[in-house]
Amino acid sequence: MAAAAFQAGGQPAPMVVEADKLKDNLYVMKGGGGNSAVFITADGVTVVDTKLPGWGQPLLDKIKTVTNKPVTRIINTHTHFDHVSGNVEFPATVEVIVQENTKALMDQMNPVYGIQTGPQPNLFKQNGGKGMPKRTFKDKMTLGKGADQIDLYYFGAAHTGGDAYVVFPSLRVMHVGDTMPTRDMPIMDKNNGGSAVEFSATIAKAAAVSGVDTIINGHNPATTTPADLKLYSEFIADFVKFAQDAKKGGKTVDDVVAGWKVPAKYTGYATPNPARVKADAQVVFDETK
Ligand SMILES: [Zn+2]
Repeated sequence: MAAAAFQAGGQPAPMVVEADKLKDNLYVMKGGGGNSAVFITADGVTVVDTKLPGWGQPLLDKIKTVTNKPVTRIINTHTHFDHVSGNVEFPATVEVIVQENTKALMDQMNPVYGIQTGPQPNLFKQNGGKGMPKRTFKDKMTLGKGADQIDLYYFGAAHTGGDAYVVFPSLRVMHVGDTMPTRDMPIMDKNNGGSAVEFSATIAKAAAVSGVDTIINGHNPATTTPADLKLYSEFIADFVKFAQDAKKGGKTVDDVVAGWKVPAKYTGYATPNPARVKADAQVVFDETK
């Protein structure tokens, strides 16, 4: 989930996708929603995440500037509209793969907790099912081999209930979607299976995957490392404990918003948005008996 694609004054912002070359055959394509990974293999291109509505074609156009190979596969890290909507703009022959819970969530397109309310449009239904995944995995799936290998992992609930971690083992790179979007409070999307209480332990498992040096985050402009993801898991744990202690002490969600400060050890972290802290604290309270 990301900022709206409109500038002040209501003019549509230009739809510019930027490409960062991470490796000879791996690009991070930014703008228009979540960061997309573009992995060029012998047989074709795998795209991880396809951005906001209307951004699939600009993404395809940008991919054409770096390779002549066709896009053959999309992997969506999770169900949110700023990571899946461009799917419908890709050719219907492109294989779409997601974690099995995410497929069910894409059928529903529930409002993002703390961000959206009420029924949301379902682009996939509007397009006769185009862009929906036909292939899913539960805990782990390996695609291709050698230089072209991709490993998909699911470690449990965090940002949503279907967060996939996409590893390119030959390049030692992992895309973690919005389980660590930036160095800021995440969305804990309980409407879509997300969890506050499980979040930290779930992403600690992703941080422990061996053979990874570089992490692509859902929205951070620069890459991070497994050590950064480990630290982020501690940040989430600290926040959850703070909110749980508040609840046990008879305090309210608003008390958490007033009292929560990012501990000093988390250098470079954003000052949290109070609305986000409130939404996340509410999820902690709801999950803590
Ligand atoms: Zn998201």
